[in-house]
Amino acid sequence: MRKWRFRHKIISMNSLEKTPKPPVEAKPLFGLSLPELTEVIERLGQRPYRASQLHQALYRQRITSLDQATTLSQALRDTLAAEGYIVGLPEIVQTARSVDGTERYLIRMADGETVETVWMPDGDGGERGDGSQAAEEEEAEDRAPIPAAFPYRRSTICVSSQVGCAVNCQFCLTAKLGIRRNLTPGEIAGQVAAVLNRHDVELGSTRGNYTPARINLVFMGMGEPFLNYDSFMSAVRLLTQMPIPESRMTVSTSGILPGIQRFATEAVRPKLAISLNASNDTVRESIMPITRKWNIATLLDALATIPLRNREWITFEYVLLGGINDSLEHADELIALISGTRCKINLIGWNSGPDMPFREPPQSGVFAFQKRIMAAGIPAYIRRPRGRDIYAACGQLKRTVETPLTAPLVEIAPAATLPG
Ligand code: SAH
Ligand code: SF4
Repeated sequence: MRKWRFRHKIISMNSLEKTPKPPVEAKPLFGLSLPELTEVIERLGQRPYRASQLHQALYRQRITSLDQATTLSQALRDTLAAEGYIVGLPEIVQTARSVDGTERYLIRMADGETVETVWMPDGDGGERGDGSQAAEEEEAEDRAPIPAAFPYRRSTICVSSQVGCAVNCQFCLTAKLGIRRNLTPGEIAGQVAAVLNRHDVELGSTRGNYTPARINLVFMGMGEPFLNYDSFMSAVRLLTQMPIPESRMTVSTSGILPGIQRFATEAVRPKLAISLNASNDTVRESIMPITRKWNIATLLDALATIPLRNREWITFEYVLLGGINDSLEHADELIALISGTRCKINLIGWNSGPDMPFREPPQSGVFAFQKRIMAAGIPAYIRRPRGRDIYAACGQLKRTVETPLTAPLVEIAPAATLPG
């Protein structure tokens, strides 16, 4: 008995000695603002200008590992690594490419959760499939030659703000996921960095003959940005450092009133799109239950408080659901509703999903609806669906690792090896 105790003691001491030190918890740097990086750097006893260098490396250079931060001394990089700091960009783990050039990425976060992000290159001039206002304003410029350094006139990235969505719009596939969690600022801005790195996109000001890539961002992926307001706005501020100007960003909300009210007071903010989708509360309630909380009149009142900048409009998105909201009477009702607002309408033909009780509107009906609105003097565009065949179009983003596609997934090679 004694012997056993003794041995037991020895064994446990041995095993204690052999127990590896607990791993230092990985701390992502990507996502931290300059003041936050300064805190990290000062805590390590370094001079504050090192924080600016790190900031540049993260957001301008878009490093993927600390070794690439060559403006920092090796000693500082080693110290950061020893303290558990990593760059921590989310990772593209699956890709699919549409016949129209759109690419959809499954992007994995550190905890294994995934979201989808979409790349919409615009090679054919003047289309309006990406939902961004900047794209529409650039139609005239599109006749300019394509810059050699970048094979597109512009490209738009559709960014997710949450894993899943809590809003439960009846026509949206993402809604079927429910909400799993909010994304952090680094995870939101990190989707953009990961996609830009994949395509080797150089941003920045015009230098000599070099024309920087025109990148537009639409926060229209998975999730409701205004239900993750603080992280979303922090991500916007990080993205402006890359630099992508906020005038090239459009955020879409289903109409979260407190979010709209805060947005109205922001000094730096993207353009705003509202998913209206109906011309009266009854129809809207039946397809967007959130209307019970904030009805259309309440939303319009809040929109009226947003100080619009030069050449800025509110965009109303209107998903046309065959037989539900797509008649000419609906168009007239819509005109009456919004004619007091400086706005334009983005018409989106419903993109189908499996087991959903809706039908696509007939093409002729979509054109007639558009014509009616235009006749009232309100600009109306039909958003060309992008990447429908790979489920990358509006409302189709859903984690396909969980739900197999009905259309085949086309796996593609990294962009660098793609022809053209
Ligand atoms: N959650 C935000 C942003 C993401 S949804 C929002 O709802 O505004 C982006 C756009 O896709 C919204 O305008 C939404 O109404 C639209 N949408 C959702 N499901 C769709 C579908 N199946 N077909 C076409 N558009 C859809
Ligand atoms: Fe969420 Fe937007 Fe889909 Fe509605 S349309 S469920 S708000 S992602």
